[in-house]
Amino acid sequence: MTKKTCSSCGRIIEPRKKWLKNWEEIKYCSDRCRKNRPKDLFEEKILELLKLRGANKTIFPSELLQDSDKQNKIVMEKVRSAARRLVAQGKIKILQNSVAVDPSTAKGPIRLTLIP
Ligand SMILES: [Zn+2]
Repeated sequence: MTKKTCSSCGRIIEPRKKWLKNWEEIKYCSDRCRKNRPKDLFEEKILELLKLRGANKTIFPSELLQDSDKQNKIVMEKVRSAARRLVAQGKIKILQNSVAVDPSTAKGPIRLTLIP
């Protein structure tokens, strides 16, 4: 079985027994993620801002948000989910203390950087 990441939150999907038959069709790690599948444009916005910033530069996920949204945990998690999906696509890295971390388990403040 090939490893895959959730198309909503971007975390690694832990295979379940009932999914063995149709693993190829599984796209989300949970019902919650299937219901909350992304309609946002945060993936594009992250890439745009990173390209604007230039090679080897980083951004905080919160830089994508208006001030009124920066304390909004739901919106913030959407940006972090978009970042995880971009990691799964091999486009960016998620950093903590300048070291690439596992997007599925990283907690606390993160920075994002383009993979050249
Ligand atoms: Zn998920």
